[in-house]
Amino acid sequence: MKRMLTGLQPSGELTIGSLMGGISQSVQYQDEYESFIFVPDMHTITVPQDPKELHERIKRNVALYIACGIDPDKNTIYIQSENFYHANLAWVLECNAYMGEASRMTQYKEKSQNMKNIPVGLFTYPILMAADILLYDTDYVPVGIDQKQHVELARDIATRFNNKYGETFKVPEPMIPKTTAKIMDLQNPTKKMSKSTQNQKGIIYLLDTEEVIRKKIASATTDSDNFVKYDAENKPGISNLLTIYAYFKKTTVEEVEEHFKDSNYKDFKGEVAKAVIEGLAPIKEKYKKLINSEKLDKILDEGREKVNALAEAKIKEVYHKVGLFR
Ligand code: ATP
Ligand code: MG
Repeated sequence: MKRMLTGLQPSGELTIGSLMGGISQSVQYQDEYESFIFVPDMHTITVPQDPKELHERIKRNVALYIACGIDPDKNTIYIQSENFYHANLAWVLECNAYMGEASRMTQYKEKSQNMKNIPVGLFTYPILMAADILLYDTDYVPVGIDQKQHVELARDIATRFNNKYGETFKVPEPMIPKTTAKIMDLQNPTKKMSKSTQNQKGIIYLLDTEEVIRKKIASATTDSDNFVKYDAENKPGISNLLTIYAYFKKTTVEEVEEHFKDSNYKDFKGEVAKAVIEGLAPIKEKYKKLINSEKLDKILDEGREKVNALAEAKIKEVYHKVGLFR
């Protein structure tokens, strides 16, 4: 069985972007592939965090994965920092990655843009991500379009290592959703909706209340045309809302365009809000039941044991190949 692996940072509460770009694919393919889903908390400390908040968010993330449809019986669910081998492998990979290729990563350029003191970890983040993937002989990595470049770097590093030291790593492939690969910020629809963005008005969190969702969508940036049509370049706000509506209504953008062709923006936004609220209601319901249940710890303990064993075998092979150990 092919293996897929994905992770969503506890850098903020999960958003509809996290759901549409990342989690939904893992849910869709969980019967077809062996699925790993983990909390990449070590990635999150590449930018400043409040330790207490980060702690609490880790488990909330896990509860949300399951509430979104990740079945714990079909998935291996774990926390990155509970497996020490991720960082160990990252070090070996860093020694086989180049400054030039790491410097080309657009996420690094964007995230470091306004920083005075840039943490080295923010620069090496994609190499830790390569370790997350290569440690487990991953075939597929479901991600949004923003992470495609990082998966490609993981492929390059794996291929280089295999050529140098002999066949060691499987070369992974990114799995990008067709229509929901980049959900945009509601306030700034030429920018990706990101959970760590400061202005929360442009972000819909999975646990936002109905009232908050209505308000955020009502104040979403649009344009002055007042007709509903998909045109990502000239009408990014409306196009984003069309994509969101189509996702939650399980239909196509073309059908939605047709449906709203005579509607004004106010009515259209009202319907989008309704669709999002209805779509998120069962997730919230399931989350509430899960968050305080003891089941979560049991799931995470089992996940940790399983991935630790796999990772230990892989790191031993890697260390031997590069000449480490006695
Ligand atoms: P941060 O701002 O801290 O980077 P994020 O919102 O970008 O957070 P990540 O944890 O970095 O979320 O990404 C988790 C997964 O969700 C990745 O596969 C990423 O590509 C996907 N994803 C994140 N935001 C979006 C989005 N707006 N549209 C589609 N996919 C997204
Ligand atoms: Mg991100």
